[in-house]
Amino acid sequence: MKRFIKILIVVLAIVRVIGWQIERLINRVDRTKPLPTASPRALELHQTNPVVDVHNDTLLFERNFLNRSKFGPEGHIDLPRAEQADVNLLVFAAATLIPMGFNAAGTDSSAPDLLKLVYGARFSPQTFMTPFQRAIHQSKRLHGMVGQSGGRMHMVLNQKDLEPVENKRSLGAVLGFEGAQAVGDKVENIHTLFDRGYRVAGLSHFVDNKYAHSKHGAKRTGLTVEGRDLVGRCAELGMVIDLAHLSATGVEDVLSITKNVPLLVSHTGLRSLVDNNRTIIDEQALEIARRGGLIGIGFWEEVVPDNTPEAIVDGIQHAIELLGEDHVCFGSDYDGAITPSFDISQLPVLTHVMLQRGMSEPTVKKIIGGNALRFFRSVLPA
Ligand SMILES: [Zn+2]
Repeated sequence: MKRFIKILIVVLAIVRVIGWQIERLINRVDRTKPLPTASPRALELHQTNPVVDVHNDTLLFERNFLNRSKFGPEGHIDLPRAEQADVNLLVFAAATLIPMGFNAAGTDSSAPDLLKLVYGARFSPQTFMTPFQRAIHQSKRLHGMVGQSGGRMHMVLNQKDLEPVENKRSLGAVLGFEGAQAVGDKVENIHTLFDRGYRVAGLSHFVDNKYAHSKHGAKRTGLTVEGRDLVGRCAELGMVIDLAHLSATGVEDVLSITKNVPLLVSHTGLRSLVDNNRTIIDEQALEIARRGGLIGIGFWEEVVPDNTPEAIVDGIQHAIELLGEDHVCFGSDYDGAITPSFDISQLPVLTHVMLQRGMSEPTVKKIIGGNALRFFRSVLPA
């Protein structure tokens, strides 16, 4: 027994050391492609207008968000780099379960959970046990970051909290979860998560959960009875319902039970531009737009043709052509194990390319933040 405990401690210590290094491996920036230089006008638009990105997975990594990463750079995003690009609102999504071993035909929800290893190695028994506790933990982390930021960041809990975003006084942090496994076994837990600051409910992530089935899951059907209950509660609370990673049938189910609720697809692309399971079907995106919803265009080559600024702007322009200019925004998926060609400090290069393509300034202002601000104002509690 003693020997077993010794071996276990050594294994967990090794995982912990690997954990410190892992971000440098999985959240890399592809520096092989030359970037354009952002024009003075692109920089000025960032300095004078709200800039918003509606999805990152930074909370999973325990480095200090308030400091510029010293080793690297490590990851795609931290406060100094976000401030460098004049970003004013970020949605921090808590990933609470990551299956080991993906299966293209559908990853089973019984697949071993990588985060058990990660949190085990951090010697954190509660977060080791359940996705719900991990959601509570990540909420504490974000509140801690905001508290220590000296006013450079603030939590966005209601419509009023969007004012300092609009006036560019401080960076607003919206807390979300990625996958309703975060809610745990009892749907009533959604009220606890709301009280802990959660304002975006991502219904599914990589595997099916008790409430909703994933695009990548084994069943790929839609919402369960409990899932319908959950969606109703989120709508009533003023939580944003996020359909990224949700199965196509699940998207239909949400559309059929939320007639007047603006919906979000936080990090995706359009199926007619990139034809794979990860993108959203055009007809569904159109219906979401008709209801005042928002589509966040991702910065990696699974959802746009390539990870370059030009290819991401192709994705944005394609979405505008289909959905109109009021329903498209940035949904980078920074720190989500993607390999973009620029980190958040270089975000003005996207604005530069949009201007270079001849997009009008009013349209560009909507894409870089105006649309997302209007969307959050239409959903969050007063
Ligand atoms: Zn994701």
